[in-house]
Amino acid sequence: MFRKDLIPLLSGNPLTIREIAQRLRTKPSEAEDDLVHLAKSLVHGEWHLSVTPAACRKCGFEFGTDKLHKPSKCPKCHATWLSEPVIEIVPRG
Ligand SMILES: [Zn+2]
Repeated sequence: MFRKDLIPLLSGNPLTIREIAQRLRTKPSEAEDDLVHLAKSLVHGEWHLSVTPAACRKCGFEFGTDKLHKPSKCPKCHATWLSEPVIEIVPRG
């Protein structure tokens, strides 16, 4: 089950998983589950889940957009200085 209130929350307002979890008063892992379900339900809709992937601030390595939470370290240079993925809902088109 996904939360419909994620759409107004994230529309034009990019947030990290932790920020989303805070606003929904839930755990980051549950917020992530909700987002995965929301992304699936949006496949044929007018909205689209846009993910700015996490990246390594040391070497610039970019993680996949399927990773919605902050990775623990960079697979390339093993640095832990990483940016968090940011999730937003944007109109398709
Ligand atoms: Zn790196």
